[in-house]
Amino acid sequence: MTSSMNTEALIESISELKRSRRAIILGHNYQPPIIQDISDFVGDSLGLSQKAAESDAEVIVFCGVDFMAETAAILAEDRLVLIPEERASCPMAHMATGAEVRALKAKHPGSVVVTYVNSTAEVKAESDICCTSANAVSVLKSIPTEHPIIFAPDMHLGEYAGKMAGREVVLWEGFCPAHHYVKAEEIRKAKEEHPNALVMAHPECPMEVIELADAALSTSGMLDFPNRSSASEFIVVTEVGMLYPLRKRHPGKKFYCPSAALLCPNMKMTTLESVKRALESDIYAVRVSPDIARRARIPIERMLAVPRD
Ligand code: SF4
Repeated sequence: MTSSMNTEALIESISELKRSRRAIILGHNYQPPIIQDISDFVGDSLGLSQKAAESDAEVIVFCGVDFMAETAAILAEDRLVLIPEERASCPMAHMATGAEVRALKAKHPGSVVVTYVNSTAEVKAESDICCTSANAVSVLKSIPTEHPIIFAPDMHLGEYAGKMAGREVVLWEGFCPAHHYVKAEEIRKAKEEHPNALVMAHPECPMEVIELADAALSTSGMLDFPNRSSASEFIVVTEVGMLYPLRKRHPGKKFYCPSAALLCPNMKMTTLESVKRALESDIYAVRVSPDIARRARIPIERMLAVPRD
């Protein structure tokens, strides 16, 4: 009782702060359910950054991890972007640095550097074009064949997109721990337990997992897929937080998580308390240096011009 009253009081106070600060709250699909519920928009990292850029809010509270808030700060440069938890960081994004990407590029003259949007601003600043999991294949196809392609930082998305686009890709050896450690064996077992279910896998998964899936999809693609399928059960091979928006959007269908590996602790750090603190005290403001922001905006804008796969 006390805890539910506290929750209600916190939500009320966040709403008041939002009004008085002319703020919006953006929540990633992998955030805890209560954070998704108080968010003005819930979506994938790119969709949320686009919302940040379009919105006329003065303050943007980004409930996600560091690289997402940075991307929002780059696209909404004249607004205050806050991340409620400073430690909410993406391990994969930090598996590449700007200097390392520059060094690899020097080894492959004439190459085009394609960077997954799940990367730091300094890595984006070294890149020619960014991509998301929703348009990686189209981005690779858009690159003239005479140019070698370097793909960073996610080797699994790079391998998948290269295969689908029919392009050879020099892969950075980064990975998302939540997807990398899913085992093909776990998917086979889930299929045995739910023989009528279709498997949707995120392309951050290893290839042997993707090969067992009925569809390889970004999170936005997963949200839409049950509308296009007559199946009523789905095995969802992406971060477990995704089950919440799927169940909300498709209440008549069933969704299963096949592996305990599919949990990103960094995505679960945001709390109502930290959102309230962000709005009260501007903690933590996300700042990208003007030079990095200017250079990183170019590959992001090139990516936005490429349609989804
Ligand atoms: S789920 Fe993976 S890619 Fe997303 S924030 Fe966590 S570690 Fe990074």
